[in-house]
Amino acid sequence: MHAEYAILRDLYPKPECALHFETPLQLLIATVLSAQTTDRRVNTVTPELFATYPDCRDLAAANPEDVERIIRPLGFYHAKAKHLLGLAQELDTRFGGEVPRTMDELTSLPGVGRKTANVVLGNAFHIPGFPVDTHVMRVTGRLRWRSDWRRANPNPVAIEREITACFPPEQWTDLSHRLILHGRAICHARKPDCGECPLAGTCPSAH
Ligand code: SF4
Repeated sequence: MHAEYAILRDLYPKPECALHFETPLQLLIATVLSAQTTDRRVNTVTPELFATYPDCRDLAAANPEDVERIIRPLGFYHAKAKHLLGLAQELDTRFGGEVPRTMDELTSLPGVGRKTANVVLGNAFHIPGFPVDTHVMRVTGRLRWRSDWRRANPNPVAIEREITACFPPEQWTDLSHRLILHGRAICHARKPDCGECPLAGTCPSAH
């Protein structure tokens, strides 16, 4: 596992969050919007969204139809606008418009699960967080980094617990980024490009 991670470190030396943001609130919003779509697409709508609603209170008081128009290219725009307004209102009421810095507080917000909370903790606050998305699940399963690799529907919380137990907290966020980058670039869902993968020598799923 650690030798394979050393290879991933060399392969992706400067991993970064693919979502564009300048503040914790912007990252929280962008992450919530990224459900069922790509980060690249989210980045096409957030400049207008952030410029139109610069802070939490602006968004909390927004006309839902105006928000829907801006985020329409993402799909599910009606539900996503509703989620965003509910999130902003709750943040404003309970946290004075500031994004909280703990897992418990973040996941107490509507529409915020552990994955989103870990993205915000790790990337906006530099508090160790290990977001588990579909790429992380797939790549850690193929590499047999986790014991439940046979399961068709693995439990992301169990994966988070098992993988983070093997790495120091300061590595968690970059580790997640690198697994995601590898899943996007080489270890594709349908047809992994094992011929181009520098992990093929040790990966049990290589073919
Ligand atoms: S060898 Fe193939 S299955 Fe294993 S990590 Fe690389 S691309 Fe994925």
